[in-house]
Amino acid sequence: MFSLVIPVYNEEKLIDELLSRTVASVESFASDYEIIVVDDGSTDRSLELLLQWRDNNSRITVMSLSKNFGHQAAFTAGLEYATGEIVAMMDGDLQDPPELLAEMYKRINSEDLEIVSGKKTGRRGSRNRNFLSALFHLFFKYIGEIKSMENAGNYSMMKREAVDALLTMKEKVRYLPGLRTFIGFRQGYVEFVRDDRYRGEPKMNFGRLFMLATDAIFSFSRFPIRLCLVLGTVGTLVFMVVGIYVLIAKVYGFAIPGWSSILLSIYFLGSIQLVFLGILGEYVYRSYKESQNRPVYFTRKIYSDRENKK
Ligand code: UDP
Ligand code: MG
Repeated sequence: MFSLVIPVYNEEKLIDELLSRTVASVESFASDYEIIVVDDGSTDRSLELLLQWRDNNSRITVMSLSKNFGHQAAFTAGLEYATGEIVAMMDGDLQDPPELLAEMYKRINSEDLEIVSGKKTGRRGSRNRNFLSALFHLFFKYIGEIKSMENAGNYSMMKREAVDALLTMKEKVRYLPGLRTFIGFRQGYVEFVRDDRYRGEPKMNFGRLFMLATDAIFSFSRFPIRLCLVLGTVGTLVFMVVGIYVLIAKVYGFAIPGWSSILLSIYFLGSIQLVFLGILGEYVYRSYKESQNRPVYFTRKIYSDRENKK
C-alpha cells in the first residue's frame, strides 16, 4: 500500500483543487493507497470540506488534531498513522506539485533507494521568502552536522524501513527534513520548481519560519555553542594582552583617563554576554522541553475506515 500524508491548516480555499489533483496523481500509479489529511486544528471550513471528500472516497482518511500543533507536528501525526509500505509527505498548499509523486514513486521503486525527496531547483512566489530560504540552506550546509540536505524540504517519499527509523526519534523539537537526512539510508532526489501557494495566505509567517530555521540549526549543529566558545576564547586572549598593557601603563605612569574606551568595552562585553546567554538559554529550553516529554500532538478524532473496523 501507498500512504500520503498532507497537513492542512485553514486551507478551505484550496482543498478541492488539492484533493482532485492529488487523487488523480496517486491513482495514476497506485491502486491500493490511503491519503491521510491531517487537519491541524483549522478554524475555517477545512475539516468540513475534507469530510465531504472522504464521503466520496473512503481511501481518504482525515485526522483531526485537538488544536493547532504546527506543521511538523501535523506531519508526525500522519506519519505515525500511515501503514503503507511506501509513505510520502507533501504540503497541502499545492506548493509541492502532486504530479511529482508519480516520478518519486517510479524512482523509489526502480532504483535501490529508501528515500526520495524533492530538491528545489527554483521557486515561484515571494522573492524575499525565497531569498531567505536559499540563505538558510546555504548557511545550514556549512554549519549543520548533516551535509546532504540538498535544498530539500518536507516533500519526500520513504520506504517503510526509513519511516520506522524516522519515527523512532521522539524528540519534541522536530525538524523533519533534518531528521530524514540524519537517518541515512540510500537517498535520491527528484528536482522540481516549487510553486507559489495556490490560494490563501502562508500559515508560516516570517516569525514561524525563523523559529523553524532556529530549530534546524540548534538541533543539527554545534555552531551556536561553538561560536560562544571561540569568541569567548578570542575575547579572553585579547583582554589578557590589553590587561598587560594596562598594568605596564600604570606602572610607568602613562595611563591616561579614558572613559570612552571603558564605556565601549563595557557595552561590547555586555552585549556579547547577552547574546551568549540567549544561546545558552536555547539549549536549556530545549533540554527542558525534551525532559517534559509531552506528546507532540493530540488527536481529536480520526475519520477512517480503519477506525470503523475497530
Ligand atoms: N500547516 C499546518 N499547521 C500549521 C501551519 C501550516 O498544518 O500550523 C500546513 C499548511 O496548511 C500547509 C503546509 O503546512 O499545507 C505548509 O504551510 P505554509 O504554506 O504556510 O508554509 P510554507 O510553505 O510557507 O513553509
Ligand atoms: Mg506553503
